Amino acid sequence: MAIRSIREFGDPVLNKPCKEVTEVTPRIRELVEDMLETMYEANGVGLAAPQVGVLKRIVVIDVTGEDPMILINPKITESDGEQTGNEGCLSLPGKGGIVTRPNHVKCSAFNIEMEPIEIEGEELLARAICHELDHLDGHLYTELVEGEVYDVKPEADEDDEEV
Ligand code: ZN
Repeated sequence: MAIRSIREFGDPVLNKPCKEVTEVTPRIRELVEDMLETMYEANGVGLAAPQVGVLKRIVVIDVTGEDPMILINPKITESDGEQTGNEGCLSLPGKGGIVTRPNHVKCSAFNIEMEPIEIEGEELLARAICHELDHLDGHLYTELVEGEVYDVKPEADEDDEEV
């Protein structure tokens, strides 16, 4: 496993749509392991493949630090409710913004064995799923921010999760 460098805002790879995964090759397994390691190293709760420069529809999410989820070709199948809160992104380190997202989503995807899975999330998990899936279509949370993107003080942001 290896830590990969995280692409930052302004890198054109972050604005491109990603391709579906048709087969989990050894290279994809390695990518997923690296994405998890890179996410944990950066103290993030989610990471999408384009954030490490790979235009494939793969995201990893772990909102508790103990529950890694690997989502391949994910799609949101249901969403409801609303939450408005702080959001950040590992591709915009030290920044945050207020974004409204659904409070509850259901998502279908494939796991690392390419078996179909279904996940459901509320609150931070719902926010992370929406945020990461947007990355796969080349979208960043900055497009949705209410007001300005602001600077986050590094010591004061325990509630600001970067995805
Ligand atoms: Zn992000």
